[in-house]
Amino acid sequence: MLPNEDVQEDLLQDSDCCGNGCTNCILDHRPRPSKRVLLAGKRNVILGYTKFRLLRRESKSDGQVLLLHFGHAASEEKEEEETETDAVLDIPPGHHVMLRVGSLLRPYSPYWSDFLAREFRILVKLQPDGAMSRHLSAVRPNDLLEFRGPIGQYAHDPLEAKCLFILAQGVAIAPTMPLVRQVLENEEDMSRVWHLVCARDLQHVHFREELLEFAQFWNYRSCLYLPHQQCEAEACQDQDQDQVGCLHFRRSLRYKEAARVARLDASELASHLNPSIPGQRVLIVAGDASFQRTMAQLASHSLAVDPASVYLL
Ligand SMILES: Cc1cc2nc3c(=O)[nH]c(=O)nc-3n(C[C@H](O)[C@H](O)[C@H](O)COP(=O)(O)OP(=O)(O)OC[C@H]3O[C@@H](n4cnc5c(N)ncnc54)[C@H](O)[C@@H]3O)c2cc1C
Repeated sequence: MLPNEDVQEDLLQDSDCCGNGCTNCILDHRPRPSKRVLLAGKRNVILGYTKFRLLRRESKSDGQVLLLHFGHAASEEKEEEETETDAVLDIPPGHHVMLRVGSLLRPYSPYWSDFLAREFRILVKLQPDGAMSRHLSAVRPNDLLEFRGPIGQYAHDPLEAKCLFILAQGVAIAPTMPLVRQVLENEEDMSRVWHLVCARDLQHVHFREELLEFAQFWNYRSCLYLPHQQCEAEACQDQDQDQVGCLHFRRSLRYKEAARVARLDASELASHLNPSIPGQRVLIVAGDASFQRTMAQLASHSLAVDPASVYLL
């Protein structure tokens, strides 16, 4: 048994729940050592609240979104003898972590993490008058913050080829990135991915470059849904032209980039059904509670997914 792991579980209390009604509550999906950690025979540093140092802070979308890059900082304060190589950071794809500032708890979903370097990155959409948003907008490189996790229940078996329908809304595209990467980076995984990304407009699509890199893989298809896309060309504005047919918009798309100036609805979902492709159909929805509810209902029907194979991140 690895040090502290059972103790960490026993120490979970009602106050460890952030009260936000997460689909995967920390009390239901307690952090457990993953197969990867067991194989490595090392301690996962994030199983209990642990200090991470802010290494990089980048402001995006007019300062409304922050990219925060953290590195594990606990070795400075560890009393027990522990060399750097005894510990790893394991946050499986689709799992989130809990940030604690005093008594304030909020979940965040890493879009990237490094097992050996013990670093991770999150994308934060700052909420006006939000308690944690206020705190995060003031953090600066070298500040220390406490995180705990990983929390979640999604697990992917690469040995069984599946049809993965991944629906993402706004910054909630973040936890879907490692899910896609784990399929595409494994040459033996024959699963196919449909990544349907909802954002206001092209300016609000996060990770656009990486989505274009994914598009090089045979088993990846994506489509951006941009209901508020506006064309700035005078001709289009004068004529109130339908954006779907707008030449300027189509020109702003890159090679292999599919996009619609529309909401993702039942008929759009059904257009990705591809009934002749074999494999278990799995639906993953990442977004706010109302997006998750609506999409899980619409998509499980339009994409013929068994409700038992629907995962809300
Ligand atoms: C599993 C999970 C993963 C998540 N991952 C991410 C992520 O990766 N990135 C990310 O940005 N977010 C993520 N979130 C959301 C995140 O946890 C926070 O909810 C978000 O950052 C807002 O927190 P806050 O404390 O700033 O706002 P809060 O204080 O919780 O307020 C949220 C909004 O409600 C309003 N509000 C607050 N109190 C009241 C009131 N009394 N009456 C009316 N309105 C009020 C505020 O003005 C604000 O706009 C995730 C959520 C879940 C459940």
